[in-house]
Amino acid sequence: MIIQLAKDITTAQHAQLEEQLKAINYKSNHVKTQFGDYIIGVGKKDFDIRTIGILEGVQDIHRVSDAYKLVSKKWKVQDTVIDLGDGVKIGGGHFQMMSGPCSIESEDQIEKTIQLLKDNEVKIMRGGVYKPRSSPYSFRGLGIDGLKMWYKMTRAAGIKIITEVMMTEQIDAMMDYVDIFQVGARNSQNFNLLDALGKVDKPIMLKRGISGTLDELLQAAEYIFSNGNERIMLCERGIRSYEKAYRNTFDINAIAMLKEKSHLPVIADPSHGIGVRRFVEPVALAGVIAGADGVIFESHHVPEKAFSDGQQTLNHQEASKLIQKIRKTHALREEMARM
Ligand code: PEP
Ligand code: MN
Repeated sequence: MIIQLAKDITTAQHAQLEEQLKAINYKSNHVKTQFGDYIIGVGKKDFDIRTIGILEGVQDIHRVSDAYKLVSKKWKVQDTVIDLGDGVKIGGGHFQMMSGPCSIESEDQIEKTIQLLKDNEVKIMRGGVYKPRSSPYSFRGLGIDGLKMWYKMTRAAGIKIITEVMMTEQIDAMMDYVDIFQVGARNSQNFNLLDALGKVDKPIMLKRGISGTLDELLQAAEYIFSNGNERIMLCERGIRSYEKAYRNTFDINAIAMLKEKSHLPVIADPSHGIGVRRFVEPVALAGVIAGADGVIFESHHVPEKAFSDGQQTLNHQEASKLIQKIRKTHALREEMARM
């Protein structure tokens, strides 16, 4: 059960509400975000929700019996729109692309990527400065100094940054240089990190775990929301399956279903989704048709020389072509939605 509290609720009204919940044996959790004030009631007893709905200080009440509640579409029918400023919005009809290398490598590489994005009017650049690598001997990123250099260059170009944060301890130092914090697949259920990201007022893109179910992804998002941050995007990036012909199995079903289960924007990551360069395009377009609010994909001026994930990275010519095709596919989807 989600109780939306009125903005002007008094301490006395709040206490009375807590009393009522106690009386019906409901455990209450107070959640205060940048946009709202809620009480999440958890209990078994069936009761007439109007008895609580009529209390002073209560704006609205909704019955949500799933394990995840605040991220559910059952109480918030309207899609969440994430506003990054400067007219860049994601969700609720606003579609965005994000592209760039797997890893931030050099000033020259950043410069070339910014040019690609500017030429194609893409507003968000991706790149990792802290890289989760299967082998400890692989390149693990340029760290905070790389982020600062990158930030300086993108700010001058009017481009936003999405980058992965791997540990709670990195958040503070990264905070001023990031527009969207990415939580990687390997950290999808790092609940301490999710708790901490719930306490910052920055958008989060939460990736699905390598073997994560949709329920687990939505409950992970619930950690962020219930700690106070409503600005969350969900990202389908492929899951591990028995198929070995490609890196991951991009779960197109997840995109369609997440759009129904949650009001949060859903982003498709075809690069990690299939892990093979020549198939990134069809998977990306399929993700758009399935309902994604955005696409994130890896690009590099010389993918063969990329420090990581070169095998799934598009060169700038391929990337430009894909951007045009994604725009056309998105327009087609909108047209079909009106049929
Ligand atoms: C990445 O975006 O480069 C990355 C490491 O993604 P994932 O966490 O999905 O593997
Ligand atoms: Mn990568």
